[in-house]
Amino acid sequence: SLSDRLDGVFKKLRGRGHLTEDNIKEALRDVRVALLEADVSLPVVKSFIASVKEKAVGVSVTKSVTPGQQMIKVVHDELVELMGAVNESLNLAAQPPAVVLMAGLQGSGKTTTTGKLAKRLAEREGKRVLVASLDVYRPAAMDQLRSVAEQAGVACLDASPDEKPQVIAQRALEAARKSGADVLFLDTAGRLHIDETLMDELVEIKSIANPVEILFVADSMTGQDAVNVAQSFNERLDVTGVVLTKTDGDARGGAALAIRHVTGKPIKFLGVSEKLDGIEPFHPDRVASRILGMGDVLTLVETAMEKVDLEESAKLQEKLFKSKGFTLEDFLSQMQQVKKMGSMSELVEMIPGVKQAMKGKDVNLDDGQIKRVEAIILSMTKEERRKHQILNASRKRRIANGAGVQVSDVNKLLKQFAMTQKMMKRFGKLGKKGFMRGGGL
Ligand code: GDP
Ligand code: MG
Repeated sequence: SLSDRLDGVFKKLRGRGHLTEDNIKEALRDVRVALLEADVSLPVVKSFIASVKEKAVGVSVTKSVTPGQQMIKVVHDELVELMGAVNESLNLAAQPPAVVLMAGLQGSGKTTTTGKLAKRLAEREGKRVLVASLDVYRPAAMDQLRSVAEQAGVACLDASPDEKPQVIAQRALEAARKSGADVLFLDTAGRLHIDETLMDELVEIKSIANPVEILFVADSMTGQDAVNVAQSFNERLDVTGVVLTKTDGDARGGAALAIRHVTGKPIKFLGVSEKLDGIEPFHPDRVASRILGMGDVLTLVETAMEKVDLEESAKLQEKLFKSKGFTLEDFLSQMQQVKKMGSMSELVEMIPGVKQAMKGKDVNLDDGQIKRVEAIILSMTKEERRKHQILNASRKRRIANGAGVQVSDVNKLLKQFAMTQKMMKRFGKLGKKGFMRGGGL
């Protein structure tokens, strides 16, 4: 899948000192293959790769995020751009009834989506909704819409397969006006393939009903086919938006990218299950993350870039490698930097894989623990923080009292700190370069 593929790309990038033309080239080649495999067409892939490359090379490398994470961010932002940066909701700004025309191939999910949207509008926005089936070719299709409307709690126009779709459309409009409906959904027939008769019929219905929304319903499982079909429908009908269905069965996400790029029309909703509640507004940023399969690593990167004082952490790193060594004061400052990024448990949630890796291991990620350590260090005098060896039993007791902890907690911290200090010394011998490559602070 695309996400697996990109995962591999970024694993390769991990641990590199900085982004260079060379290591991006390798990553971009993999991204390119990944997108092609996800059914994104070549012209889309080409333009995508070009802009990612341009943006990635210019990126300045900060110390708080790895080059791999920054590369992920560039690719992610580009994906969002490609899919249309903001979510666009249903446009119902019309003299009521606002007509929504549903178009697409047979089996793409038009009838189901009609029910989902009708239910949403009725329940959440208190809209009066009427639905009508123009699918006279399959009598079962009319029954299906009726049953869906019942479940959704909205009205359904009585129609017979003997009527012409154009006539039903006209009747539906009149019925909607008469009953004071706010929204009228016209569920149309579909074919297994694009066919001109059907297209002509849809164009006629469009001119009769004057819809404010023409939603092209696409089955995301059909990949590149959905893209070609989207293009044909858009050329004939000038659709206003796209609903991508069955995304619960499609981990690739390539269709979303390509349909948007090819039609230039916004994807408005995603179908996420067969049930009538199974619809979600399309959020490009979330879908991009899903495509990349990276949890909330972006939030982490952004938080890090915004909140961590880069100068301070640079100063701190500098200090670590000087002979004077690492003091409790530095320890505190380092911890405060980490705290700015959020709680430890939040950080762990944001980084994919970390939580699983931690499972069952004796790693203390308790936020309370960090607060306790902070309280202990803050209860010391400046001199004690720099030279903790001068602490005697009575000072330790007073510090424990001041911090609201036990003396044993103070001892534990000092022991941990001594170990950290020893480790820092060893890193110092390895040299600054080695340490930075290992991820810095
Ligand atoms: P139409 O011919 O375009 O009206 O398509 P239908 O609405 O009849 O849907 C065809 C099939 O796809 C039905 O079995 C639906 O239950 C199923 N379906 C529609 N949308 C979704 C979806 O978002 N997720 C899943 N899993 N199934 C869907
Ligand atoms: Mg149908």
